[in-house]
Amino acid sequence: MKAAPTGAGVFPKLNKEKTREVFARAYELGLKAAPEGRVADYIPELAKADPNAFGIYMLNGEGESLAFGDVGTRFSIQSVCKVIILAIALKFKGFEETFKHVMMEPSGDSFNSILKLDLRSNLPFNPMINAGAIQTVSMLANDFEFEEIMQFARELCMDPNIVLDEAVYKSEAETGDRNRAIVYLLKSKGVLMADPEKTVDLYFKLCSLSVNARSLAALGLVISNGGVNPFSGENWIEPNHVRTLKSIMFTCGMYDFSGEFGVRVGVPSKSGVGGGIVCAARGPMGIGLYGPSLDPYGNSIAAVRAMEHISEELDLHVFDYL
Ligand code: GLN
Repeated sequence: MKAAPTGAGVFPKLNKEKTREVFARAYELGLKAAPEGRVADYIPELAKADPNAFGIYMLNGEGESLAFGDVGTRFSIQSVCKVIILAIALKFKGFEETFKHVMMEPSGDSFNSILKLDLRSNLPFNPMINAGAIQTVSMLANDFEFEEIMQFARELCMDPNIVLDEAVYKSEAETGDRNRAIVYLLKSKGVLMADPEKTVDLYFKLCSLSVNARSLAALGLVISNGGVNPFSGENWIEPNHVRTLKSIMFTCGMYDFSGEFGVRVGVPSKSGVGGGIVCAARGPMGIGLYGPSLDPYGNSIAAVRAMEHISEELDLHVFDYL
């Protein structure tokens, strides 16, 4: 594959005052939207979240930040971990090997669907849905312990305080039969790369990492900055892999709302049913949002509303510059 440009610095600089105003207004709009959604309850522990909680954290490459609302609240990363899982697979297995085992096609189905996997293909459609993430975890499960992957997550999120949320893990392990169905379906098709119980257990643990809006903003910043932590200079993800990651986040990161989110917001993003969203915006800029009240697709309703406003007002849509 040809090397991708990192692209940093080619866009006009954002005005600081306007940026603050736009984020403040986005926070208000998100707060207003929160009551229209519902907190996830299929993992019982998640149902305990405050439906009106909402927070936005912005971190840019110069270390400037903006924070509104519940930015310190810890919540489980849930599907946002799929970005980290894919980044690790790309780093240690490489592009060719990774995509021998999972496709890169939007599924158009809900995040936990088994339909297309059973009827249309032996490989999961993409690494951002449960089947694809579980399959990607199986590529790593024989090489890495949970603690090592958690350490990678701490580095990528610039957050040494990420730990396993034991209550969420327990709740998820007790009720995760659909994910067990997925892992055994993958095994039955002969594509799973590790033991099914070990794989699904590692997946449950990775979904149960506790983060906050700031950790997700830092993750977004590293991705937006071509895989380089702008403060330490460490190049965690190589530019080619960042391009792949951003493309898959853009096309598949918001489940069966990815197309509409791509049109309305147009920023590579990934959501989780814990209410978190990571966005890798231009600048470089990372935006982390937390709002556990979800829309019917499983995306934070407040965060989606807020991102619509932010992207529109600050011209963050990736195609604004193409
Ligand atoms: N742990 C959740 C599950 O597997 C993750 C789903 C999500 O965040 N959309 O069901």
